[in-house]
Amino acid sequence: MAQIKYKRILVKLSGEALMGRQNSGIDPAMIDKLAVELIELRDSGVEIGIVVGGGNLFRGADLATVGLDRVVGDHMGMLATVMNALALQDSLLRHGANTVVMSGLDIPQVCESYTQRAARQRLSAGEIIIFAAGTGSPYFTTDTGASLRAVEIRADLLIKATKVDGIYDKDPLKHADAVRFTSLGYEQAIEQRLAVMDVAAMILCNDNGLDLVVCDINQPGALLDLARGETVGTRVTRNEAQQ
Ligand code: UDP
Repeated sequence: MAQIKYKRILVKLSGEALMGRQNSGIDPAMIDKLAVELIELRDSGVEIGIVVGGGNLFRGADLATVGLDRVVGDHMGMLATVMNALALQDSLLRHGANTVVMSGLDIPQVCESYTQRAARQRLSAGEIIIFAAGTGSPYFTTDTGASLRAVEIRADLLIKATKVDGIYDKDPLKHADAVRFTSLGYEQAIEQRLAVMDVAAMILCNDNGLDLVVCDINQPGALLDLARGETVGTRVTRNEAQQ
């Protein structure tokens, strides 16, 4: 069996990934499926941090369009990520994995507060960490939260697990001739406005030489294959000139 290539991986799970076949909310069966896959990854020797989104419940920008104050909406969005994190933590714990939720917002009765030092220590000890509340600040997204935490914990790879199997030159749901990239540079992704991650998130990854892989959460074994260095989905890398 192939060796593990990446010691520490940050997995970004969008809120959509947690709703399974539902239109919103949390699908417990989907959460259990993800938990099993994450434990398989941990058991292969990978240290795992997870950033969860909240778009299956609330997004501040959407709430602002119907009249809520944007900052209040973003607070609701961040609290939604905490709810998702608790559901995933519950499943991981039930499946026997030592797991902790660390939040960018202080909610001491519910979960631990994030600090970089504690996070790195706990990862080294083999605990799975779910990072909740994104960056802890409004006007950001959990993609930026994922790249920030990935850089802070010195992850070797950032994986964005979505409902799409990679990055395309145009929306594959609207264009039958859309072509999937196997790899591309951050600058290309930013210049061509490809739907990858926020620009802020990509700049942070590029500046810190952190590769990102976008893959389909429903592809069985994708996380483990990636940890072994196999080609899955689309890889986004630092631009040549900076390497
Ligand atoms: N959010 C925020 N700051 C952050 C991360 C998230 O204010 O650092 C809020 C924002 O309103 C966002 C919501 O939380 O829309 C849920 O996150 P996101 O939209 O990134 O979730 P995903 O699309 O990954 O499910």
